[in-house]
Amino acid sequence: MKHLLYSITEPVVCAKCADEFAAGGTGSHTLQSYIRVDVGFSTRGMQVWCQRHAVNVVHIDFEDARPNADFRCLERKVN
Ligand SMILES: [Zn+2]
Repeated sequence: MKHLLYSITEPVVCAKCADEFAAGGTGSHTLQSYIRVDVGFSTRGMQVWCQRHAVNVVHIDFEDARPNADFRCLERKVN
């Protein structure tokens, strides 16, 4: 179940947001806090959409397959 904890190795980011953040003056301390995206299913697969620029970040076409998806929320125990 460890895969349900944070395991992102390559973040998906909007190129326009990344360029603006790199240029400075966004007022955000991290690119992660600057980016605002919607993530969801489409009729073809899954899409990441940049709210700030109203552009597609990535659309993953499932090509009519149904990949396994796990929506359970796991929280790391704090002792
Ligand atoms: Zn953007």
